Amino acid sequence: MFRKILIANRGEIACRVIDTCRRMGVRTVAVHSDADAGARHVEMADEAVRIGGPRPAESYLRGDVIIAAAQTTGAEAIHPGYGFLSENPEFVEAVEAAGLAFIGPSAAAIRAMGLKDAAKALMEAAGVPVVPGYHGASQDPEHLAGAADAIGYPVLIKAVAGGGGKGMRRVEGPEGFFEALASARGEAATAFGNDAVLVEKYVEKPRHIEVQVFGDGLRAVHLFERDCSLQRRHQKVIEEAPAPGMTPEMRAAMGQAAVRAAEAIGYAGAGTVEFIVDASRGLRPDGFWFMEMNTRLQVEHPVTEAITGVDLVEWQLRVAAGEALPCGQGDLAIDGHAFEARLYAEDVPKGFLPATGRLTHLRFPHGARAETGVRAGDAISPWYDPMIAKIIVHGPTRAVALRKLEQALAGCQVAGSVTNLSFLRRLAGHAGFASGDVDTGLIGRDLEALAAEPVPCTRARSLAALGALGLDTVAGPVAGFTLWAPLRRRVSLTHAGEVSEAVVEVRPGGLLHVEVGGAVHEVAREASGWRIDGAQVPAEVVVTGGGVTVFWGNGYGFGIVEPLDVAATAGAGGGRIEAPMPGLVKAVFVAVGDRVAEGDRLAVLEAMKMEHSLTAARNGVVAEVLVTEGAQVVAGAALIVLEEEEA
Ligand code: ADP
Repeated sequence: MFRKILIANRGEIACRVIDTCRRMGVRTVAVHSDADAGARHVEMADEAVRIGGPRPAESYLRGDVIIAAAQTTGAEAIHPGYGFLSENPEFVEAVEAAGLAFIGPSAAAIRAMGLKDAAKALMEAAGVPVVPGYHGASQDPEHLAGAADAIGYPVLIKAVAGGGGKGMRRVEGPEGFFEALASARGEAATAFGNDAVLVEKYVEKPRHIEVQVFGDGLRAVHLFERDCSLQRRHQKVIEEAPAPGMTPEMRAAMGQAAVRAAEAIGYAGAGTVEFIVDASRGLRPDGFWFMEMNTRLQVEHPVTEAITGVDLVEWQLRVAAGEALPCGQGDLAIDGHAFEARLYAEDVPKGFLPATGRLTHLRFPHGARAETGVRAGDAISPWYDPMIAKIIVHGPTRAVALRKLEQALAGCQVAGSVTNLSFLRRLAGHAGFASGDVDTGLIGRDLEALAAEPVPCTRARSLAALGALGLDTVAGPVAGFTLWAPLRRRVSLTHAGEVSEAVVEVRPGGLLHVEVGGAVHEVAREASGWRIDGAQVPAEVVVTGGGVTVFWGNGYGFGIVEPLDVAATAGAGGGRIEAPMPGLVKAVFVAVGDRVAEGDRLAVLEAMKMEHSLTAARNGVVAEVLVTEGAQVVAGAALIVLEEEEA
C-alpha cells in the first residue's frame, strides 16, 4: 500500500478520499487554489500545496504543477477525484512518466471511452446492447437525415465529444432535423472543439440506470445498479440503489453487459457504465442500452457503498497499489436501499441559478452520511461547483430509506445562502417518486410545484421577529425586561422580496406577544425550545450578520430592515432610549444637561455586525446617561433618559 498520496481535487470528494486514506494509514497531500487556502480539504490533509489562482485553469487543471507538488512532497500516487483531470488521458500519461501511480484506469481505457461514437462501436463489438442509431464516420447532413429516417422519429442528435447534456437535441420529425443538427453542431463546436455528432433513437419514458463496475486490469466485477432518473436538465438530483422495480433477470443482464464493457478495455479501478432504459413497458432484460462509460469514481458512488458495504476508495487504492480485485462477484450482495440527495447553493425560483455566500450556520442531520467540503463559516465561491453536501441515507427497504431521506433533509440547516433544500424535500415527498414510478421527465413535468418557494406562516415570522430583536436566546423570564414591562417594539423583516412588519410586546414574566401578518401569537422561549400559543414547536432561530433564519422543516431566511431606527423611539413616551437588542455601545454623544432635538444622534450600538444609530424621539434635555462607551448591554437596557416633558 502507498505511504503517501496526493489528491488532485477539492471539495467534498477530496475530503472523502482523505477519510479513507486516514483509515488505511495512508498520508495525504492536498492541493489548493488561492480561493481554497483555508478550505476543509486543506485542513484535513497531512500536508497542503498551493497550486495557483482561483480559476480551475490556473490551479486544479494544471497537471504539471500538480505532478511537481507530488514529487516535492514525496507522494507515490495521485487520486484525481472526479471532474477536473480525472478523465484526461494526457494527464495519466504524464503522471506515469513522472514515476507516479495514477489511481484510476489506464490512459488507453479512458481514450477508448472518450468519444461516444467510438465507445458505442467498441461496445457493439463486445456484445453490449447499444441504443439503435447511427454512429458511423459520415457527417454529411443528408446521410445523417437518412439515418434518422431509418431509425424512426423521435431521434436524439448527440455530440460525440459530449458531456453535461451539451450538444444534444431531440428531434420530433424530419422537418426539424436540419435545424436541430446545425444547432447541436454549433453548441458542440463551442463546448468541445469537435462538432461531430451521432444520431440515435430517442427512448420514450427513459430511465437512467447505471452499473458500478470495478476492475483490476484483467477481471472486473459489478456492484449492482444505481437509478439516476431524477434529473433536471440532464443533471442528477437524487440517486438511489438499487433501482426500483429491478428484476433479478434484468439486473443479471445489465451487470454482465457492464462487466463485458469493462473487461473489453482492460479496465482497472472504479468505473460506471451508464445505460438508458425504456420504462414504458416496465423493466425488461431486452430494454436497456449502453450510453457511455465514465472512467472514474462518480459523485453518487456512496449509495453503492451503502448497499454493498464496500469502500470504493479503499478498493481504488488497493488495486492501484497492485493488489488483485478484493473479492469475486459471488461475494457481493445487496443489503437494503440507499438514497443520495445533492444539496446545492442555488436559487431554485430563479431557475436554479448557482448562488454564492458565506455559510454562517451549517448543520447536517443525524442518522445520515453527509459528504461535504465546507464547514460553518466557509464561503461558497463563484469559482467552483456550488455543492454544499451530499446527504446519504440507508434503510432496510426503499420505503424506510425514503422516510429517512425526508427526515435527513428536514434536519439539514444552512444559513447564509439560498439552497435547493425545499426543492429536495418536495421531491423526496413526491407521490410518483415514492411509488418508484421514475423516469428522466419526472422533475420537468412537476417542476412548478416542486420548485415553488415555501411561504413562512405567521408563527415562523413571529420567531424571525424575535430573532431580529435579539429575543431568541433567553429562556424563561427575559433578562433585563422585568423592570420596565411591558415593552413594545417593531421590526420590519424581508423574505423573498416581501417586507412585513411585526410588533413584539414583552409582558411581565417574559411572555412575548407578536403581531404579524394579521395574526397574534403568544410565544415563550423555554429551555427545551419554543412554545407558540401553548404548543411546543420544533423550530430553531439562528441570527447571523444582518439576517435571521428560522428552521422549521424548511429554512426560511429573513433580512432585517433597519430595526433600530424604529425601536430607538419606543421608550416610555420617547423619554427613554433603550437598546432594542443586545450589543456593544460604540459611542455616546451626549452628557447630562445637554439639550437635544428630535432626530439627534445620541449613541451608536453595534449589534449583529452592524452599527446602528440611536436617535432622540423628541426634543428634550438629557437627564441621565446610564452607559459608557464599550459597555455590553442586554436587549431593553435603558441607555439614556431625557427629562420629563414640561406640561
Ligand atoms: P452527456 O454525456 O452529455 O451527459 P448522455 O449520453 O450521458 O450525455 O445523456 C445524458 C442524459 O440524456 C441521459 O441521462 C438521459 O436522461 C438522456 N438521454 C441520453 N440518450 C438518450 C436517448 N437515446 N433517449 C432518451 N434520452 C436520452
